[in-house]
Amino acid sequence: MIVVMKPSATEENIVKVQKHIEALGLSTHLSKGSDVTIIGVIGDKHKIAVLQMNSYEGVEKTVRITEKYKLVSREFQSERSVIDVRGAKIGGRELAIMAGPCSVECEPQLMEAARAVKAAGAQFLRGGAFKPRTSPYDFQGLGEEGLKLLAQAAKEYDLRVVTEIVDIADLDVICKYADVLQIGARNMQNFRLLQAVGRTDKPVMLKRGLAATITEWLNAAEYIISSGNDDVILCERGIRTYETFTRNTLDLSAVVAVQEMTHLPIIVDPSHGTGRRSMIAPMSRAAIAAGADGLIIEVHPHPEEALSDGDQSLRPEQFAALMEEARRIAEVMGRKI
Ligand code: PEP
Ligand code: MN
Repeated sequence: MIVVMKPSATEENIVKVQKHIEALGLSTHLSKGSDVTIIGVIGDKHKIAVLQMNSYEGVEKTVRITEKYKLVSREFQSERSVIDVRGAKIGGRELAIMAGPCSVECEPQLMEAARAVKAAGAQFLRGGAFKPRTSPYDFQGLGEEGLKLLAQAAKEYDLRVVTEIVDIADLDVICKYADVLQIGARNMQNFRLLQAVGRTDKPVMLKRGLAATITEWLNAAEYIISSGNDDVILCERGIRTYETFTRNTLDLSAVVAVQEMTHLPIIVDPSHGTGRRSMIAPMSRAAIAAGADGLIIEVHPHPEEALSDGDQSLRPEQFAALMEEARRIAEVMGRKI
């Protein structure tokens, strides 16, 4: 249930409502918009069912949300969320561009990638230091050494670090170096991990699971927000279908769906979504045209030597060309790069 406060409600009115709800053993989640404050009520549905709030001063109305996910829903917050990552905004008029190698491999590789993506207009440097590889014999990432390189490159080129967390045990060390925590597709329903990142103050980019429905994905986002962290960014990265030509099937209709269903920003990953270098630029253009809030793209200075995902990595000059096209599409959409 949500309690919608009147625009004239005072701070005292809001606190009184919260205290009443919390005294019943329920928890509250506050969302302050430019006009109204909404109080989300979370907890035992039997207790919520008998909650009567309409007589409280400052209360406009109460609304029952029938969906399981509540805090991510547009009913709870009608305005789109804008997430500020050290000055770079995700979900605003400006598109968020994240780019860099699949894996951090060594200093020259990362530095070259960072320089190139910054020069082309990215605000975020992506790169995995802890890699969730399908085979145990594949490169697993450099661990903390990789995180250090990411932080160094980000500092040198004024970028923000986006990197994946695969295990709760790595949370503290990753938080030391990362600006955005990435939850990979394979971990979208690792609920303990979702709750753990939900207890941090780092924005979380939640990738859609390999075979997740949109509802499952939004419930995963709800795990993070209900643990205390409002800064969730969704990332569509393709889903498993019967098609084998592409690595995954990039579901651009999901961009529209989640924008109707939630207030969270959504960015698109055409690299994992297609697995094919030649498809990255066309799908990036399409993603922006569909209304995505940004892109995350794999860029490697020498894709043929990449330790992971070389076939889907753009060369620096290809990324720069894509950014030029993306700028033009963004302008048509009333957005900016
Ligand atoms: C990645 O970003 O390199 C990655 C492993 O992505 P996903 O979880 O979408 O497969
Ligand atoms: Mn990858």
